[in-house]
Amino acid sequence: MSPEPTHDVVVVGGGAAGLSAAVALARSLRSVAVVDAGEPRNAPAAGAHNLLGREGVPPLELLAAGRREAEQYGAEIVTDRAVTARAGEHGFTIGLAGGGELRARRLLLASGLVDELPDVPGVAELWGRSVLHCPYCHGWEVRGRRIGVLGAGPMSVHQALLFRQLSEDVVFFPGRMADPGAEAWEQLDALGVRVVEGPVQRLRLEGDELRAVVLDDGQEVPVDAVVVAPRFVARADLYEQLGGTLTEHPVGELIATGPMGSTAIPGVWAAGNAGDLSAMVSAASGAGLVAAAAINADLVAEDAAAAVRARAAV
Ligand SMILES: Cc1cc2nc3c(=O)[nH]c(=O)nc-3n(C[C@H](O)[C@H](O)[C@H](O)COP(=O)(O)OP(=O)(O)OC[C@H]3O[C@@H](n4cnc5c(N)ncnc54)[C@H](O)[C@@H]3O)c2cc1C
Repeated sequence: MSPEPTHDVVVVGGGAAGLSAAVALARSLRSVAVVDAGEPRNAPAAGAHNLLGREGVPPLELLAAGRREAEQYGAEIVTDRAVTARAGEHGFTIGLAGGGELRARRLLLASGLVDELPDVPGVAELWGRSVLHCPYCHGWEVRGRRIGVLGAGPMSVHQALLFRQLSEDVVFFPGRMADPGAEAWEQLDALGVRVVEGPVQRLRLEGDELRAVVLDDGQEVPVDAVVVAPRFVARADLYEQLGGTLTEHPVGELIATGPMGSTAIPGVWAAGNAGDLSAMVSAASGAGLVAAAAINADLVAEDAAAAVRARAAV
């Protein structure tokens, strides 16, 4: 017989999604442990924007406050990396890199995603500062500046149009991307987006400052910011260990979820970027709350059924 659970719920990931879930679960008097490796996706950014009431808060400061709020209701925060997951009679056993394990009746994967950046020298160095992907996250900060958009796929033209809303000086570098079609070229042209053809070799940096996009032929185009289209890949090792598979999406891979975060594996939920590649902080937080409510309701139903069975057995 497998050992009894140590917690009602283990949450893997203590970002906006995981901590919001932990607060709601702990406030429902659920025993909850959050395992967090402390690497939220937006860590390189100076501030988190479009966050009502906390506009521009440094990402790690926001999560430190979230940890305190969760702990204040009794959630346990375990600073570690969850490396193994297996299902058993009573739920799930989560193994930790630092040794030891947690056992829970339900599992919430709030492990976020990995931004796979284009392999262009300079991009990784300035990621989240002057190399950007999201106009809502950092668009205001580069409004009116010289913005270069590195073409990678159909989304790149969309990005160029979105950033054109924020600046009249947008240069599009199609590089080796497939031809986006006549309509796309016409839109870029009509909006005054300059197109510079040819493979991009690297970004030119001076210290920590972005200076220019450098092409293979040596041409340099001065820019203040560069927009890229990463591939977004949900962190799903544990889901895969439990038998789950990632679902393809036009811009990456995710854990497919139902409306309240349920997954194809009974007892396992996903929230935040793990299940929604486009979720910003507020949306990730909302998804964590919704999943927590669904998990609590599921446990309530299980407990009620067990109580009925126990009474009938007397
Ligand atoms: C550069 C950049 C800037 C951004 N700026 C903004 C912005 O201004 N406003 C906004 O709304 N959104 C912004 N975003 C998006 C924002 O980062 C996401 O919406 C948010 O991080 C999603 O929250 P999450 O909880 O799903 O994942 P995350 O915040 O990524 O948190 C996941 C957590 O899980 C942990 N984890 C993963 N796997 C394990 C494991 N196996 N064991 C233990 N822990 C694990 C990670 O270490 C991490 O701490 C930005 C994104 C980027 C890349």
